[in-house]
Amino acid sequence: MDYYLESLKMHEKNKGKISVESKVSVESYEDLSLAYTPGVSKPCLAIRDNEEDAYKYTSKGNMVAVVSDGSAVLGLGNIGGLASMPVMEGKAILFKEFGGVNAFPICLSTQSVDEIVNTVINIAPGFGGINLEDISAPRCFEVEKKLIEKLDIPVFHDDQHGTAIVTLAALINSLKVVNKDVSNVKVVINGAGAAGVAIAKLMDKFGVKEILLCDSKGIISKNRDDLSKYKIDILKLTNKNDISGNLEVALEDADVFVGVSVAGALKKEYIYTMAKHPIIFAMANPVPEIMPDEAIAAGAAIIGTGRSDFNNQINNVLVFPGIFKGALEIRAKKINEDMKIAAAVAIANIIDKDELDAEYIIPKIFDKRVVESVSQAVKDAALKTGENI
Ligand code: NAP
Ligand code: MG
Repeated sequence: MDYYLESLKMHEKNKGKISVESKVSVESYEDLSLAYTPGVSKPCLAIRDNEEDAYKYTSKGNMVAVVSDGSAVLGLGNIGGLASMPVMEGKAILFKEFGGVNAFPICLSTQSVDEIVNTVINIAPGFGGINLEDISAPRCFEVEKKLIEKLDIPVFHDDQHGTAIVTLAALINSLKVVNKDVSNVKVVINGAGAAGVAIAKLMDKFGVKEILLCDSKGIISKNRDDLSKYKIDILKLTNKNDISGNLEVALEDADVFVGVSVAGALKKEYIYTMAKHPIIFAMANPVPEIMPDEAIAAGAAIIGTGRSDFNNQINNVLVFPGIFKGALEIRAKKINEDMKIAAAVAIANIIDKDELDAEYIIPKIFDKRVVESVSQAVKDAALKTGENI
């Protein structure tokens, strides 16, 4: 099938992919008086007197804003807010189909950090959570940080944390397969953008002791004078031995390669110098850092990609529906690091010991157990860390 052409036709036929539906019927004057004026004034006044009542009388508690400025959309780059609509509508339906969470696309006509932050703050009353989407690095770090400080509802940049969580889940199970301990492995992350930085932070938090992060210029190290403040910051967690050089140097004796960079960035020769039973997650989309057959031929013990046409698809859809479902149900104010790790462990634990193998380290996208498991784990972790209200 020509997915591009058929997709265009499908979008035209439906005029987009979402619609708003009423939970109550409006067929009589009585119905009208309840759903709208005069009756509706009563819940309004209740909320005026007690803001918490918004969760009781409106859809706020199960409504997520999918906010994008269109600056880093899929592999398409900076196409702007309006052109990002089909993706954000798509994200909204994934929230609903996988997590039962209502989500609404908010596509912006600005790419200024302060304007994005102010806009989101101003629309926040109608939402129980904010999913930031496809906002380019490094602005995405600043936007998210400011919003987390200012808002008391969960704010989650999926391209960072959804990716980090699903990658950690894949790592947890891969280490079981190759029989290695998280505290002894060396992980090299290629790509220091939204995904790479978040993966480094979460892996550090989970107990990976040796992490090297590379960008297009090589290993991020103190010796470089071209680092943004986010790359300087990440040096607190990575490259503790102060190594300089390119990806090839970084990968000597490494146990794990995580690619969130560009197609073809991993040469097969680099795999030869990695530690025994190398784990390769080549997640650049749509074309990975190395193709699975080439990685296996070069000695990879495990290969995962972002793609559905290979085994081990490492995809954020395993994460965000369950994360938000859990966070919304428990009215978490934030999605903290413990909640993220709990989600990763829950995803990993879906696969039983006897099912787990090199070609099945991560649950399938349509595995219905994932969302329940993730949301429950997120709720438990939120309760434990006092993140609930
Ligand atoms: P991003 O914010 O634009 O970051 C890209 C990073 O890759 C930058 O740090 C860039 O270096 C680096 N880079 C570019 N060419 C490189 C090279 N030859 N070697 C090493 N690093 C290189 O993008 P992102 O949102 O983090 O996403 C990165 C990639 O991961 C994309 O292909 C995306 O589709 C994929 N991804 C996949 C999943 C998934 O499958 N679950 C999830 C998220 C992202 P500079 O900083 O020097 O420019
Ligand atoms: Mg995205």
